Amino acid sequence: LAQQADEVPVPAARAATPHAGEVVLEAAGERKSFGETEVLKGVDLKVHRGEVVAVIGPSGSGKTTMIRTLNAMESIDAGEVLYRGRPVGYRHTAGGRRPVGDRELARTRENIGMVFQQFNLFPHKTVLENVTFAPAHLGKGSAAEIKERALVQLRKVGMAAHADKYPHQLSGGQQQRVAIARALAMNPDAILFDEPTSALDPELVDEVLQVMTELAAEGLTMVVVTHEMRFAREVADWVVFMDQGVVVEEGPAAELFGNPQHERTRRFLSRVM
Ligand code: ADP
Repeated sequence: LAQQADEVPVPAARAATPHAGEVVLEAAGERKSFGETEVLKGVDLKVHRGEVVAVIGPSGSGKTTMIRTLNAMESIDAGEVLYRGRPVGYRHTAGGRRPVGDRELARTRENIGMVFQQFNLFPHKTVLENVTFAPAHLGKGSAAEIKERALVQLRKVGMAAHADKYPHQLSGGQQQRVAIARALAMNPDAILFDEPTSALDPELVDEVLQVMTELAAEGLTMVVVTHEMRFAREVADWVVFMDQGVVVEEGPAAELFGNPQHERTRRFLSRVM
């Protein structure tokens, strides 16, 4: 069948073997300090194409800092963060590690989208404008094409009927679904979700998790920092438990939740489950 003009590009099918195949994102020995405090103390992590990696762990363990390094929203002090084998946000030179320029940074963030805890929509733009802004700015097609693609993404998150509203007219759950559509509109290789439901009233959490579950089923590569243990257990292919700046334990969701190997993991899970 010929591809429809407004069809969403088909992502990788869900991986048959967990945590295998093409590595999209990787952290290796990643270290990061804020002032005197070392927050990431040698983090290793791999994200494969088409998998959902959930990152769980106590507050203050470095989860948000870690996920923000994956698209260079935070720099690192040592180790590597790699997108398809290339350093993210820096390069190695004879004089040491150097940050890359804005253009390369922007390209990286086109490939690796981000959804924030606080939605971060543009308050003075409509829902549709929020989704079309970046693709239009980057010249990703004609205005008509960009609008049509934006509407496809908004339909996907159930927000097309609200295209002309402003963020303040929407619930938090609706705003977060728009933020997801905005990330999808860049056709990214992976999307990072930093506690996407933490700012929501409890009754709005499920509508966002539902959208994320559908994206997971379609094979979108996702990294999700979350306190939603049910989501981590039921939707994630791979779960990473962080504590005090390191990955203490990781594995397939069924194993990490069903048979945690480390005392720290067991203690955390017994508190939150
Ligand atoms: P988590 O997401 O697991 O709760 P974070 O990555 O948010 O952990 O934070 C880890 C630690 O780093 C915390 O102690 C936090 O206070 C500290 N931290 C995070 N961001 C900054 C910053 N910009 N400046 C100083 N300290 C920070």
